[in-house]
Amino acid sequence: MLFTDIIRTKRDGGELSDAQIEYLVHGLADESIPGEQVAAFAMAVFLNSMTFDEAAKLTLSMASSGTVLDWSSEGLNGPVVDKHSTGGVGDKVSFMLAPIVAACGCYVPMISGRGLGHTGGTTDKVESIPGYNTAPDFATFKKVVKVAGCAIIGQTADLAPADRRLYAIRDVTGTVASVPLITASILSKKIAAGLDSLVMDVKVGSGAFMESPARARELAGSIIATAGRAKLETHALITDMNQVLGTTVGNALEIGEAVRYLRNEARDPRLDAVVLGLCAEMLLVSGVETNREVATRRCDEAVKSGRAAEVFAAMCASLGGPDDFIERSDNYLVQAPVVRPIRAKGYLTKVDTRAVGNAIIELGGGRRRVGEALDLSVGFSQVAPIGTRLDAETPLAVVHAASDADAARAKQMLLDACEVGEERPADTPVIHEILPGKG
Ligand code: URA
Repeated sequence: MLFTDIIRTKRDGGELSDAQIEYLVHGLADESIPGEQVAAFAMAVFLNSMTFDEAAKLTLSMASSGTVLDWSSEGLNGPVVDKHSTGGVGDKVSFMLAPIVAACGCYVPMISGRGLGHTGGTTDKVESIPGYNTAPDFATFKKVVKVAGCAIIGQTADLAPADRRLYAIRDVTGTVASVPLITASILSKKIAAGLDSLVMDVKVGSGAFMESPARARELAGSIIATAGRAKLETHALITDMNQVLGTTVGNALEIGEAVRYLRNEARDPRLDAVVLGLCAEMLLVSGVETNREVATRRCDEAVKSGRAAEVFAAMCASLGGPDDFIERSDNYLVQAPVVRPIRAKGYLTKVDTRAVGNAIIELGGGRRRVGEALDLSVGFSQVAPIGTRLDAETPLAVVHAASDADAARAKQMLLDACEVGEERPADTPVIHEILPGKG
């Protein structure tokens, strides 16, 4: 088989056979197909898309390109369920969600990604916790999930290696935002993780890969239908990414916000709605609850009772982090040397959220290239939500930077990313849609 025929077929809008897709996946995993050919293939798919059958075959083939985890012999007394987000700015949901859902009787083996482009990565954020090991072997990962109820770790070389390579090439060739390629990328990893069920957080808006509601719905529908073919029951929430989620952006700052949430000290309303909405959906999709209101209350109670914080503490200590991290996180999280407010006057009316993510990269808290080291201390805190009246008391945000020059640059980028006006804009919902809908 010639890979050039595969590229040509997709370039001309044709459909690949199962054998051709298997050839592609083998060649990705063993690196026998050179990067430039993979890039040409990705661009052809980006431009001409794939049929449902092609995307489903690519998903299943990539899922079995490496290790496939099996939880059936672990003696777990609850369902194995996870959540995956399509990526956003200030998205620290996983750090609350995994322990909340575990506190409600589920097991959450969360294999997360690193930040790349304007979106932050859960793996980078959790590495702000000193000693926390994001790369344990599978035996340790399974043990932590079994004992603590959840484990948040980074991607491993063994799970869906074909996706690992394809994603790295897509990321640098402008071919990420393709519905079949995102579907196959996300689901191949989730199927390989051996889940019983999944909830997707499909972000929509100026900080998301899918900027329009129609595209977000298309992606959610594609993921649900393709997961169905792999017998992985999946629900999706389409959630707002037209502004930062919560009050912080930046690795250690976001962990600090997650800890304050778990301690039930400060729960930003929009972040709270997304966390509880996704957690409740996980209880529904996994069959632990049948009523959304009851499920939401149960998740809220897991926070208020301190049970979710206990689960987080157990996970953190089992993976090498401090055993008093929840109580003393401020003593452990790195702090930037320059901290100063960014002021503006009037109502915050609109945010270019992608540009906020780019400001984090400029500060050194996000990457331009795979493998780049990050400054975990930098970012923004006290980020004002849209509709806030900004004045001498209420800043747009507080910048945390390594130097005065970095702080000045990030300040200008944030000001350029935000629109301020005289009239307070109408509130917008944070959860746009839950799929599959009733009927
Ligand atoms: N997240 C993934 O894991 N893959 C994609 O293609 C996009 C977001």
